[in-house]
Amino acid sequence: MASSPIPSPQAEPERRSLPDYMPARMINEFVYCPRLFYYEQVEGLFAHSADTIEGEAQHKRVDKEGKDLPPAEELEEEEIRTRSLMLASDRHRVIAKMDLLEVADGAVTPVDYKHGRPRETDQGIELWSTDRIQLAVQGLILRDNGYRSDEGMVFYQKTRQRVRVEFTDELMTETLETISRAWETAASERIPAPLVDSPKCTRCSLVGICLPEETHRLRGERPEPAPQLTLFDETRNDRLKKPPGRETRLLVTPRTDLRPLYLNSQGLRVGKSGAVLRIKERDTVRQDVRIGELCQVNLMGNIQMSTQAVQELCSSEVPICYFSRGGWFYGITTGLNTKNVFLRRSQFRLAEQEWFCMRLARRLTAGKIRNQRTMLLRNHVEPD
Ligand code: SF4
Repeated sequence: MASSPIPSPQAEPERRSLPDYMPARMINEFVYCPRLFYYEQVEGLFAHSADTIEGEAQHKRVDKEGKDLPPAEELEEEEIRTRSLMLASDRHRVIAKMDLLEVADGAVTPVDYKHGRPRETDQGIELWSTDRIQLAVQGLILRDNGYRSDEGMVFYQKTRQRVRVEFTDELMTETLETISRAWETAASERIPAPLVDSPKCTRCSLVGICLPEETHRLRGERPEPAPQLTLFDETRNDRLKKPPGRETRLLVTPRTDLRPLYLNSQGLRVGKSGAVLRIKERDTVRQDVRIGELCQVNLMGNIQMSTQAVQELCSSEVPICYFSRGGWFYGITTGLNTKNVFLRRSQFRLAEQEWFCMRLARRLTAGKIRNQRTMLLRNHVEPD
């Protein structure tokens, strides 16, 4: 049978509509790492790290909404402190929720709360560049709303220190350039490259998604690591010819403690009690399982689940999979947890491409054979 040629991948231009405003905290992310910014602003990806959880908890404490600022012309006589005020600049298309605004002598000073500590230098402490630009964005917004704003401050909660920055012309010019580069990046179809050997990556909440070292290596920007066993793609001679290179640096990615739950005893009933799934056999409780520790629930055969349990699992982004008693897959129930539209669209588009399906199938098959070989080597009574 004659085989039809496999079409090669084609880059399709994709048009994306941009939001009206860019949040100031996204400009902070852009200064930290343009790739991180792209993940969060464009692809809608976010993952918690110890730092983000701590920061969010501390922000909740200062997030009590305060009263609006009076118009700029009425500020001269006022001394005001107001919290959690949202303001935007139409001119620069940026928006910020300002933690605290202090008004004195007709000037407004934004105070931003950060959970960490200031940067320490030989000359003393100073703001991190990310915080400096984020604060300057707030100053820019205040100025565009007619207020005088000459300086800003960050309150670092770990050391309980206020660190001040003056809104100089140089800082404001740098801030405008940064905003403009952030918009350009958001409009781009290509995600920026990962940082190289950066200590920022080890603290980054998205390091497990970004995989900076691996990405550089796959793009051919790193020496190949020592030969590894692969099936189908290379001959043994090809592998032996490769020079040993530097190993990809291992990053400490967050460990997920979530586990799948498999239920296969026929006649079980699953209900919800608070934050746990209560599994019963007739009227006897067999087990309570905390929903927060689950990544997936698999129901094999005739197992009933209450609507309340289904709703809770959907809102907790835990999929429920239905199988026959013998393991035949019927279907899946998931919540509305698909945030990354661009990724999904690309996946559906690629699923139409024969060359891609063939490559994916080959890799899955190779992976399965490799796993089976490993299992045989581990479990054989005479492995040699
Ligand atoms: S892991 Fe590094 S390169 Fe990747 S998004 Fe985070 S900071 Fe940027």
